Amino acid sequence: MEIAKSLQQTPSSYIREILAAASDKNVISLAGGLPDEKTFPIDLMKPMLESLSDMPELFQYGATAGYTPLLNFLNDYFQLPDTHIAMACTGSQQGLDLIARAYVNPGDKVVMEAPSYLGAMQVFGLVQADIVTVPQTEFGPDIEALRTVFYEQSPKMFYAVPDFHNPTGVCWSLETRKQVAALCEQYNVALIEDAPYRELRFSGEAIPLVSDFCPQHSIVLRSFSKIASPGLRIGIVSGKSSYLEPLIKIKQGADLHSSVPMQALLLGLLKHDNFDYHIDTIRTLYKSRYETLYSELQDKLPEGCEIKPVDGGMFVWVTLPTCDTFELAKELLKEGVAVVPSPVFYPQPEAAQAALRLNFTNATKDELVMAISRLADGLAKHLD
Ligand code: PMP
Repeated sequence: MEIAKSLQQTPSSYIREILAAASDKNVISLAGGLPDEKTFPIDLMKPMLESLSDMPELFQYGATAGYTPLLNFLNDYFQLPDTHIAMACTGSQQGLDLIARAYVNPGDKVVMEAPSYLGAMQVFGLVQADIVTVPQTEFGPDIEALRTVFYEQSPKMFYAVPDFHNPTGVCWSLETRKQVAALCEQYNVALIEDAPYRELRFSGEAIPLVSDFCPQHSIVLRSFSKIASPGLRIGIVSGKSSYLEPLIKIKQGADLHSSVPMQALLLGLLKHDNFDYHIDTIRTLYKSRYETLYSELQDKLPEGCEIKPVDGGMFVWVTLPTCDTFELAKELLKEGVAVVPSPVFYPQPEAAQAALRLNFTNATKDELVMAISRLADGLAKHLD
């Protein structure tokens, strides 16, 4: 049977291939985007998992929009405006898929920063969106480029990861957030604000969501994968009800609803007195790993390679002198360190700036030190 044309045009995930190679026990992987399993709140969940068995009704079919007690709780937890509703999804990734399927016709323009999240490129590729990119600066998207694209190309939506971007770690400034929100309102472009790393801030002050400045022109995607566990597969989509109702319709056809026992478990976690403390311990752990990685990189990176500090999230972006980063990533694997080369994060890979994405959340400090020493050796050889 011939596969659908939309799928024929979608590249398979290079990251999955590199992760397969990185499973070799001699390789230290900085390639994935995995939280550390040791941070999963298993102790908090144990008694809750026990008590789930006393509630057989949770194991029945549930409502498509989500488990009502969880959704009610989240209205306050996220301080949603009165006009907004929340919906539970099977990971925020599903929320993104529902948005693309509900709103994007083949050829519709969707704007993204370049580089951008690979999983979003896949989703928008599958609905055959025309992806238009704007360059990313250290403060967020280049505002003049964004204005020009909005004005000249009338896109339908702008997909963005303003907090600790995947892959670059960039966190948009307050000024940029206000400017983007104003542009979305002015040009009637829907902002799709993807915020899975928002709670992983380990330095600096929290900044409002971009959507706080344009609540009627935005949909927010949140995830519990990084602060609870990805295996729960619970993400939350929120926005004004007219934006969300079409998503509920599509979700009915996709999977009826997300797992109710897992939503109930998540609700128990969020209400637990120790959950905030739990998030703090994750931030502290990731901060110390980041600091190790950053100082090792500063000491050991060869000339011409650059890094920018980050205030949270899971990634650091190392920019390099022009080179074949796919070839480099293969050579680094032989040195015993797995990283992701920049072109996989660009909708137009040929336009990629030479860079590598490094993850710092799923390796110990000792492993990070060793990995950076291997990285520096490999880079020195490759750039020689
Ligand atoms: N958005 C971004 C930017 C991500 O990096 C990820 C996963 N790493 C997701 C969405 C999906 O997260 P989940 O489905 O686990 O909530």
